[in-house]
Amino acid sequence: MSAQPLVIVGGGLAGARAAEGARQAGHTGPITIVAAEDAMPYIRPPLSKEFLTGAAERDVVDVHPAEWYADEHVEVLRGVRATALDPGGHRLRLADDRTLAYARLLIATGANARRWPAPEGELAGVHVLRTFADSVALRDALSGGGRRMVAIGAGWIGLEATAAARAYGDEVTVVAPEAVPLAAAVGSAVGEVFAELHRTNGVDLRMSTGVAALRSTEGRVTGVELDTGETVPADLVLVGIGAVPATGLADAAGLEVQNGIVADASFRTSADDVYAVGDVASVYHPVLEAHLRTEHWANAENAGRAAGRVLAGESLEYAEIPYFYTDQYDLGMEYSGYGTLADGVDPVFRGDPGAREFIAFWQRDGRVVAGMNVNVWDVSDGVQRLIRSGARIDPARLADPAVSFDELVAEASA
Ligand SMILES: Cc1cc2nc3c(=O)[nH]c(=O)nc-3n(C[C@H](O)[C@H](O)[C@H](O)COP(=O)(O)OP(=O)(O)OC[C@H]3O[C@@H](n4cnc5c(N)ncnc54)[C@H](O)[C@@H]3O)c2cc1C
Repeated sequence: MSAQPLVIVGGGLAGARAAEGARQAGHTGPITIVAAEDAMPYIRPPLSKEFLTGAAERDVVDVHPAEWYADEHVEVLRGVRATALDPGGHRLRLADDRTLAYARLLIATGANARRWPAPEGELAGVHVLRTFADSVALRDALSGGGRRMVAIGAGWIGLEATAAARAYGDEVTVVAPEAVPLAAAVGSAVGEVFAELHRTNGVDLRMSTGVAALRSTEGRVTGVELDTGETVPADLVLVGIGAVPATGLADAAGLEVQNGIVADASFRTSADDVYAVGDVASVYHPVLEAHLRTEHWANAENAGRAAGRVLAGESLEYAEIPYFYTDQYDLGMEYSGYGTLADGVDPVFRGDPGAREFIAFWQRDGRVVAGMNVNVWDVSDGVQRLIRSGARIDPARLADPAVSFDELVAEASA
């Protein structure tokens, strides 16, 4: 395999790390990344945080310095979309009519921002936030301050962009149908911490509220009509209603797709020599014994690299604990664990959620299945150790800051 051509579709973080993983595993043959965006691979988290606030510039998002690709003989075809995959013939067709032959191919096409599901989504002043260009456009709209933004959706993107807008001195109203922000991701108890954080920072949160229509004058958005009949005036609207996995290529090629491209724990799809990873992939997780599609940076980073090693011929099963983070105002948070197992479970708090300095643990049958640290640092490894140990832990000990993670694991396994 080591001299055969590898093709990676998608020049995001997962695609770039896959190229790196393949080289690290000793692949010497050609590696081509087909990248629809006319940009070298970049990471997205700063696009709703430090790049959006103006605290950082373009260089913070590069996955590798430009010379890395030349040094590693990784060819990046920028601004070219892959349009058709022929798994039987081991060929990939590109939008410029070129055809690439491959020995193994990785689909790392990520996800696209879900657009407003009506023609008003195309109005001037209506934004989504997925690409670098989206972030530049939103930054331009926010950076003068004194604007009125309505964020539709109280997920990570909507709330992070809200924090950035407040940092510029813009007014923000957040509108979302659920009762508590982020409740689906981290439960209501922790979601309330984020709700309070935004209220304290002057955000008007309209929860349990739907949007009836976007209002406009001469092609530019002017407000958001709520299902209560009220119209909230807006100079700009951010539509933050999730992302849709970019499965078009796989669908058309007849691969198995179910909420993402279905892959086994070694990233193999239903087609021979075709693999999938990152936001687009629903990968079997050996610990969960279920498929999991993860839209997080750490998955693109680590699973991307692992998929590259598999392309190069290595045997492995990917079983990392899912991890993600957010930064909003002066709050920093890291989450490790299995959200599906934590769903509906009341967390055990170590520290004070009201003071926004705590660790929350979620347990099933006494075992820690997820943990989140808020403004507490250098504990992610410990949280992951607890999860991996599978040990049954007394919640009172878990809540006690005087008891170290090592003690908890040692006591439980004694
Ligand atoms: C604004 C923002 C902030 C985020 N913040 C965080 C955070 O704080 N923490 C966290 O854990 N995660 C965060 N994420 C999620 C994280 O960025 C994603 O999980 C990660 O980008 C996924 O990487 P990927 O390579 O799978 O997909 P992507 O980054 O989406 O890259 C896929 C690439 O493939 C290209 N492509 C698609 N179709 C084709 C085709 N047919 N041919 C060629 N190329 C194609 C796309 O144009 C895209 O460039 C954030 C995401 C966004 C958008």
